Amino acid sequence: MPEGDVLRLTATRLDTALRGSILVRTEFRWAELGAVSLMGREVAEVAAYGKNLLIRTTDGWTVHAHLRMEGRWFVARTGTPQAAGRSPFVRAVLASERWTALGEHLGMLNVVRTRDENRLLGHLGPDVLAPAFDAASAALRLRDASEGPHVSLAEALLDQKRVAGIGTIYAAESLFARRMDPWRLVGACDASELTALLLTARSRMERVVAHGLGALDARVHGRLGRPCVRCRTAIAVRQARRPPYERPIFFCPRCQAPQAGISRSE
Ligand SMILES: [Zn+2]
Repeated sequence: MPEGDVLRLTATRLDTALRGSILVRTEFRWAELGAVSLMGREVAEVAAYGKNLLIRTTDGWTVHAHLRMEGRWFVARTGTPQAAGRSPFVRAVLASERWTALGEHLGMLNVVRTRDENRLLGHLGPDVLAPAFDAASAALRLRDASEGPHVSLAEALLDQKRVAGIGTIYAAESLFARRMDPWRLVGACDASELTALLLTARSRMERVVAHGLGALDARVHGRLGRPCVRCRTAIAVRQARRPPYERPIFFCPRCQAPQAGISRSE
């Protein structure tokens, strides 16, 4: 599933292609949006919030898309076969005279007034990649928001209502970097530990936003059974959350071992 860093990279690509351009073709292949058109409107900007993409027009409309598991956006030169969008997986097309942005396999698509974006995003926690991200206040929300402090650290990091933008990769990588047990209860951590954890996730994501996906450098994610880079113990995996919403979290059972006397989810 794409995480906040991928959304930022996508937003930057689409922003470069469309900002300041007039839309000459718009298609929303989505049940409730079949009749909606944004033709003739000018793109003000393309932004990301957590795992959400927002394409805003200068006259106050927003196209909101969520990529869910397999979604992606790509840009093709208008008039080329790739820009035609003939694939049945293409759900959104927004084109200027020069460039066409196409959204495939989208998990969610809305067109709303920009002033009403909050109806779609208001339940989310702070965006971990926002320039004004305040890690200390986000740490308090990470611990107490949503279902409260009695969930594991892994689940808290994945819960977009607590903090927006982190998925399985950065949850696992930041917990490993801080040597924290993913299954310890978030309520058993103090605010400074959680602040440091969020800042670690943010800085790793920022590196990828700045240098591309090649800068990811995963130490535990996707490395089941391979030796830990620190202690050579085999990397393990366990599911966070319950079916059907379970998500794999990779970790080192030794570097991230439970500490005696500290509550964790079993
Ligand atoms: Zn280890």
